[in-house]
Amino acid sequence: MNLRRLTLFELKDKFLKGEVSAVEIVKAYFQRLMLAESKVKAYITTAKKDALVKEANELDYSLSKWRKTMPLMAMPIAVKDNICTEGVKTTCGSRMLENFVPPYDATVVARMREHGCYLIGKTNMDEFAMGSSTENSAFGPTRNPWNLAYIPGGSSGGSAAAVAAELCVAALGSDTGGSIRQPAACCGVVGLKPTYGRVSRYGLVAFASSLDQIGPITRDVRDAAVMIQMIAGHDPLDSTSADMPVPDYTKALKENLRGMKVGVPLEFFAEGLDPEVELAVRTAIIQMQALKAEIKEISLPMTKYAIATYYLIATAEASSNLARYDGVKYGYRAPKEKGLLEMYMKTRQEGFGAEVKRRIMLGTYALSAGYYDAYYGKAQAVRTLIKRDFDEAFKEVDVIVTPTMPTPAFKLGEKLQDPLQMYLSDIYTISVNLAGVPAISLPCGLSSRKLPIGLQIIGRPFEEEKVLRAAYAYEQASEWHLKRPSL
Ligand code: GLN
Repeated sequence: MNLRRLTLFELKDKFLKGEVSAVEIVKAYFQRLMLAESKVKAYITTAKKDALVKEANELDYSLSKWRKTMPLMAMPIAVKDNICTEGVKTTCGSRMLENFVPPYDATVVARMREHGCYLIGKTNMDEFAMGSSTENSAFGPTRNPWNLAYIPGGSSGGSAAAVAAELCVAALGSDTGGSIRQPAACCGVVGLKPTYGRVSRYGLVAFASSLDQIGPITRDVRDAAVMIQMIAGHDPLDSTSADMPVPDYTKALKENLRGMKVGVPLEFFAEGLDPEVELAVRTAIIQMQALKAEIKEISLPMTKYAIATYYLIATAEASSNLARYDGVKYGYRAPKEKGLLEMYMKTRQEGFGAEVKRRIMLGTYALSAGYYDAYYGKAQAVRTLIKRDFDEAFKEVDVIVTPTMPTPAFKLGEKLQDPLQMYLSDIYTISVNLAGVPAISLPCGLSSRKLPIGLQIIGRPFEEEKVLRAAYAYEQASEWHLKRPSL
């Protein structure tokens, strides 16, 4: 039996039945790491094998004693490198935090550990989660396991590539404008961005605070349900986390879509959509109809303003959040500079990469006196209209189905010199963050170049169950989630 091939759900089951030990699982994954990580480069930091085997050993022991009372999972999970891990470097893909070792665990990591899971490594990402390709990492790009010449998507590219290349059982990512769903689409795996407030962000390094969410990247939809179950729920340490009951997500999964109304927004099938992606998504919609869903055409007319709105709000918030990296309180400090001002300037000049600097400048401009109303204020007003589009649509339908990305993954380097082209690949994911609603991406095809295509399913706030249910029904009726890259 090849342990790495199993989903989290299957592996957890075998583990709880005593058919496989935590130590065996850890060893299987380390074997894989030795073989494939040098090609994919999904990680910035990996756990030490001996330490993890020891941890697994202790878990096996405690399980042999407590089997009935402690439903532990003992799964090696990868975590994006902008989520704090006690005693383990958390770099955010930046020189600025190259040597930053957090003194505490993010709430999601703490919850993961309470379930017996452990950290197999910290995954590569675009610097401070700014990007769609993982090429903006200060530590070099991650490669797409389906074709090493292509990007894995971003900014949680390391997490998605690690799941696709079987370098972990499941992973956590963060999504501000698509950073869980896009890499999931590019790597042929499942990525869920929960509702704003569903999952605690305590310990997530902030990029754009009104948009950021943490969520799972997994092999299939059921695994996404298991993972969100583990991390969702109120956290007194995060005032933006919602105090709402957490439903049983795996119970919500059903094999048909009877009674479900599925909206297809006109605006998402317009200019710029790759014909292969369109065909795969339209085929998926027909399959959903066969599963008894009622398909309805809908309109989200404000979609055309989403990119401009996002790139004003996200950069404005980033410029404010990133002001803390001044060489005094955190991370990198430029050596031997004369005077305080020069120290600040050199620190930020040397510590941040080009894209991060571009965002700080854009955001500072949008917030500056005299321009605030015209840019930031206007963007906030349009954001409300975008949210209203979704409110209206959700009066008629339960979920909305769209492509996740306008094209399959592109080649490494292809869009690096053209930030605007890079921003345009966010077109289908960012309005979801602006509206604060949940959405999942799951595989729905392969392009002629054998690169995965992603299907996005969007739901009402706090209706992750419906999103998961729709995704699961489609997934079970298709075979795309069973396809794996031959690395
Ligand atoms: N690609 C988007 C950006 O660069 C989204 C990133 C994200 O979700 N973190 O801002």
